[in-house]
Amino acid sequence: MLTLADMPIGGRCMIVKVHGHGGFRHRILELGFVRGEKVTILKQAPLADPIEYEIMGVHVALRKAEAQQIEVVDLAIEAHPDFTTDNDTDNAKLASTIEEHVKAEVEELGKQISVALVGNPNCGKTSFFNYAAGMREKVGNYSGVTVDSKIGTFKHRGYTINLADLPGTYSLTEYSPEEMYVRDYLDNNPIDVVLNIVNAGNLERNLFLTTQLIDRNHPMVMALNMYDELEKSGDKLDHQALAALLGFPIVPVIARTGWGIDDVLEAIVQVYEGKATVSKHIHINYGKDLEQGINDIKTLLSKNNNVSTYHPRYIALKLIENDKTTAEQISSLDNSKQILQTAQEYRRKLETNYDEEISTIISDLKFGFIRGALGETLTPNEKKEKNEIGYALDTILTNKWLGFPILLCFLFIIFELTFFFGGYLQDWIDLGITALGDWCRSIMNEGILTDLLVDGVIAGCGSVLVFMPQILILFFFIALLEDSGYMARAAFIMDKLMHRMGLHGKSFIPYFIGIGCSVP
Ligand code: GDP
Ligand code: MG
Repeated sequence: MLTLADMPIGGRCMIVKVHGHGGFRHRILELGFVRGEKVTILKQAPLADPIEYEIMGVHVALRKAEAQQIEVVDLAIEAHPDFTTDNDTDNAKLASTIEEHVKAEVEELGKQISVALVGNPNCGKTSFFNYAAGMREKVGNYSGVTVDSKIGTFKHRGYTINLADLPGTYSLTEYSPEEMYVRDYLDNNPIDVVLNIVNAGNLERNLFLTTQLIDRNHPMVMALNMYDELEKSGDKLDHQALAALLGFPIVPVIARTGWGIDDVLEAIVQVYEGKATVSKHIHINYGKDLEQGINDIKTLLSKNNNVSTYHPRYIALKLIENDKTTAEQISSLDNSKQILQTAQEYRRKLETNYDEEISTIISDLKFGFIRGALGETLTPNEKKEKNEIGYALDTILTNKWLGFPILLCFLFIIFELTFFFGGYLQDWIDLGITALGDWCRSIMNEGILTDLLVDGVIAGCGSVLVFMPQILILFFFIALLEDSGYMARAAFIMDKLMHRMGLHGKSFIPYFIGIGCSVP
């Protein structure tokens, strides 16, 4: 991606789009940096920062960090060697041909939308991704299935959408590798729209992550997934009212069947083009004490002309929260010491007032906001029938005393069946392979080729093939355990034991799947 910051002095280019988000993006757009506009690079200040530009006949100075957020296409003749002329006097004509060409390219690039899928584990991100992008990624019901990101590219009404499936996370702090990964991804990639997928059946917990995305001030769309489960439960959600409260479009979806996915893509295009009916940035009100801290730090931040492309409110909140990454990000500012000190003062004050740790205080305030929003929009079904059988089974399966013997029982049964039935199949396959070898030997002459075929190829493949039945049967049972949800419970039961070995309960799953041939 070519950015305005890469352009040489005296160069001319055309704007594709402005990345980044929040107030920064607004200001840049207001200055006239919109798709299709031409910019001339005028001059640099000493130390190469800021740089002066001419756009729409006006001179504007931008910091390098800001210019880096503006994607452009070079208009220089040299940048387009495919277009040539023999005659120097034709340069003007050539320039205008190139301009036409660049215009089309900018139009095309401007129709590329980068979307990041962000949501809790198991909320249906991969299901959505597979359906929308026509891919077949593994869908799983325990966390840790998606350990990195996958990008799918597809067309939607003339737009090219680059969709990134990210690991599931409950929060964007810095406690787990997944959280760090998603945070880093959002910080360091030009994302046009964040698609927040939530499990409609568990809104209170899912919206926690949403509040963090709101703090970060991303252009956003929410996919209200598992809408089938919500309807089944009898709960009523006024999702339009919730959208108005949160400030971005919310679209009901059933990712498993693909219902509603087109509407989500449509909403993404609308937000991207700035045409969405609901699209405003809201501030979650954190109460008098915290808000005052945020404001004081914002004022200190704004004293730097070295403006950041992050949202100042988010930075202020993160600093009060004692977030190491953010503290590092601002460490180059002239008044960073003063800023960090102010953040610390407010943190201490809040911790004394509330008698809690700062992260707990902020979480509580966020949940307060969520409960308020849901209180106005969600009508729970009074007569909801509880899944009594499910609860009863759960209590037995994960019982302190019974859980372990039951797990051993299941494992015993699975291995018995695998090796009992597998044993028969193994013998049959063995017989078949021996017969095939004998037959080959009988119709071929004694010699090196026969030995190669019979002792090498047939016996070699055979020794692998004989394990097939056992592997297939074992994997059938593993799939059964996974899809029934018992695997997640097994991880829960094994948690304590695995912790003794310095591992998480989930690590039981690769051990279990690895029984047989692989090394987990
Ligand atoms: P991820 O962890 O966010 O990637 O979630 P997955 O896509 O792996 O889905 C987790 C589970 O939820 C899978 O068993 C899916 O089949 C199921 N699921 C996904 N979307 C829906 C939906 O719209 N309705 C229902 N009932 N289940 C869904
Ligand atoms: Mg996934």
